[in-house]
Amino acid sequence: MNEKVAKLINQQINKEFYSAYLYLEFSNYYGAVGLDGFENWYKIQAQEERDHAMLFYQYLQNNEVKITLEAIDKPDCSLTDNMAPLKAGLKHEKYVTELINNIYAAAYEIHDFRTMQLLDWFVKEQGEEEKNASDLITKMELFGTDAKGLYMLNSELKARVYTAPSLVL
Ligand code: MG
Repeated sequence: MNEKVAKLINQQINKEFYSAYLYLEFSNYYGAVGLDGFENWYKIQAQEERDHAMLFYQYLQNNEVKITLEAIDKPDCSLTDNMAPLKAGLKHEKYVTELINNIYAAAYEIHDFRTMQLLDWFVKEQGEEEKNASDLITKMELFGTDAKGLYMLNSELKARVYTAPSLVL
């Protein structure tokens, strides 16, 4: 595999684990304030991010690339109120979309069609992640300021169950 593409994917493993860590911090915040639905939502989100990391990990393994596991940064966020994680989440997903696009551009440049095909799934996934994050903000703005609305929204998020990623390597 091309050295630059392999390096970017190796970095992405770390970024996805960081995403998991960030969302676990959000889950931690909501757990502490008693919003167990939001806590559940982000705990599952963290699980998905670990899956993303492992998909990239497995892809490099399958292509006989030596993987380097770097240190995972401490979650960089200040969670001042119940809206803060939602906004930080959307900002983070936009950043991750950029990272995926960067890897895609590198793969495209050297006609690495196999990696482009892998990344097609992630490009679509990022579209969904950004939409979910944005929808959550909208719902919070609409209903979150009222105690009953917040209770209902919390109940909705509590119903989320984990499903494994649709991509199989
Ligand atoms: Mg991800």
